[in-house]
Amino acid sequence: MIALGDVRVHVLSDGGFALDGGAMFGVVPRVLWERTDPPDAQNRVALGLNVALIETRGARILVDTGLGNKWSERETRMYRIDRSASLLRSLSELGLRPDDVDVVINTHLHFDHAGGNTRLVDGQLRTTFPRARYVVQRGEWHDATHPHERNRASYLEANYVPVAESGQLDTVEGEVEVAAGVRVVPVGGHTAFHQMVVVEGGGETLVVPTDLLPTASHLPLAFVMGYDLFPLGTLEAKRRLLRRAADEGWSILFYHDPRIRIARVRREREQYVLSEVRA
Ligand SMILES: [Zn+2]
Repeated sequence: MIALGDVRVHVLSDGGFALDGGAMFGVVPRVLWERTDPPDAQNRVALGLNVALIETRGARILVDTGLGNKWSERETRMYRIDRSASLLRSLSELGLRPDDVDVVINTHLHFDHAGGNTRLVDGQLRTTFPRARYVVQRGEWHDATHPHERNRASYLEANYVPVAESGQLDTVEGEVEVAAGVRVVPVGGHTAFHQMVVVEGGGETLVVPTDLLPTASHLPLAFVMGYDLFPLGTLEAKRRLLRRAADEGWSILFYHDPRIRIARVRREREQYVLSEVRA
């Protein structure tokens, strides 16, 4: 747990999985990324699912919900899904139940970010957090419900249509304060309406950029995922984020890093370097 004034941030885990290393690093050659992220026999690299639980005075907020547990055996093998940790077990270790979550922010609706939005109860799809409102950019909602050939594999309706059906969907446009000290900020790049989360308290700032900067290995500006629909958008948003984070001493939470969860960034000569923050 780290504290920013009155605001507390826990990093929960929904386990891990693995995706093709080439797709994770875009145009960067394997000889460069395999040093930090050694691939397995199927060229997959290990990824974490680090879910932020933000506790303000008035609200408990989750940033994304991991992969969830609606996966077939075939998919579990394909994505090397590791359920040795789960979001709900991580919550219960803090003494919290799904009912205790007030807000779920979905940075976007890809399956590795919205998978735990819903779950199967007696064969029926239900929202996992029955009291929460689920905050999504309106444009992301539109794109997820109108997928095309390039993004269809990432959007699984079972993760978000039940949220609208239960009346829990809260679509927002642009930068919005979700709770005191917690803002969503659209950044684009990965998807047209991808948003990051900025937490401020006690003069400190923590950002949760999720797929704008998925792991610590993605720190060099050119390390942009092949999955990104608008890679130049990612590049520019990442340039702005890192400059500000280094200038103002922000901490960054890495949603997909299998090792580092939170780090502070600084500039050394022409490079950005991290120092891990132990929660
Ligand atoms: Zn992701």
